[in-house]
Amino acid sequence: MSLTTDMKTALFYQKLDDSKVRCFLCPHNCILTNNKLGICGVRRNRSGDLYNETYEKVSSIHFDPIEKKPLYHFLPGKIILSIGSIGCNLKCSFCQNCEISQATVDDFRWLNHYSVEEIVDIATDKAGNTGLSYTYNEPTIHYEYMLDIATRIKEKKMYNTMVSNGYINPEPLIKLMPVMDAFNIDLKAFTEDFYKKHSKAKLQPVLETLKLLHQHGKHFEITNLVIPTLNDDPLVFGKMIDWICEELGEFTVLHLSRYFPHYKMNISSTPVSTLERLYNIAREKLHYVYLGNVAGSEGQNTYCPFCHHLLISRFGYNTSITGLGVDGKCKKCGLLVPNIVL
Ligand code: SF4
Ligand code: SF4
Repeated sequence: MSLTTDMKTALFYQKLDDSKVRCFLCPHNCILTNNKLGICGVRRNRSGDLYNETYEKVSSIHFDPIEKKPLYHFLPGKIILSIGSIGCNLKCSFCQNCEISQATVDDFRWLNHYSVEEIVDIATDKAGNTGLSYTYNEPTIHYEYMLDIATRIKEKKMYNTMVSNGYINPEPLIKLMPVMDAFNIDLKAFTEDFYKKHSKAKLQPVLETLKLLHQHGKHFEITNLVIPTLNDDPLVFGKMIDWICEELGEFTVLHLSRYFPHYKMNISSTPVSTLERLYNIAREKLHYVYLGNVAGSEGQNTYCPFCHHLLISRFGYNTSITGLGVDGKCKKCGLLVPNIVL
């Protein structure tokens, strides 16, 4: 482990002339003149070529319960090596990880160097580890590092998961799918206005990402951070649930997460009663809805969608699989429970 200035030629860009490039990794499609960084703060035009300047640069590395991602229906109760770097292509005023997500390679220099093989060795050496999770900051923007590690992890017969804002163009997303096993995607709100005002982005590309994951049969779960007055209108929320149900299916996993004031946002934290109201709206259409950041809530458990038997109970990050057989069937009604990977 050492400090480094590693960088890697980026994928997904085109030269516009001798000095200008266009990056098409994410829907911002930044056009960059020489020496400029993209909106994400980590991809730079150097003399007419685009580089990922966070290749092999890590801000955080931990073994986490997979529930912490959150992923509740993918390898429940298991641990996963989780890594992150810096930067993000969104600018959420409520970001809970702003210290790393809003940093650029120019102002956050104390990153640790881990080669692809070092990360793979750490992942494979730990007993019980299931693979890699790309998380903490937005992982798509260090795409090349993630793809190289994920390819090696698959060769080791382990799993890859990523926690993302879903703001990625279809071509890079499709290229990632053969090596990425599970996704948690933020769906921050269901209006373009929210995305524009509070995240400096657009809603539609995130919806396209979710539809693409569904069409390709990938395991994904959705996280919606509920912020009072900004995205807790029951009518708009109901439209989002209708869209999820119609486009992605009634067995889609939805995490409703409690917001706390952070970064530029000083609205008071979400009342538990608001979360419970939205939870009840979501449960009318979706079978798997969870409450995040609410200690000891019933809304953390998984119940059989057919007979309502308790399948998996969770308290904090303690997970007990009591009602689900290793064959994925409910121990009470005997039916195969959809959309859970054990
Ligand atoms: S990944 Fe970064 S440089 Fe590329 S288009 Fe998105 S914000 Fe711009
Ligand atoms: S997408 Fe996530 S990491 Fe990026 S700014 Fe928004 S909340 Fe922070």
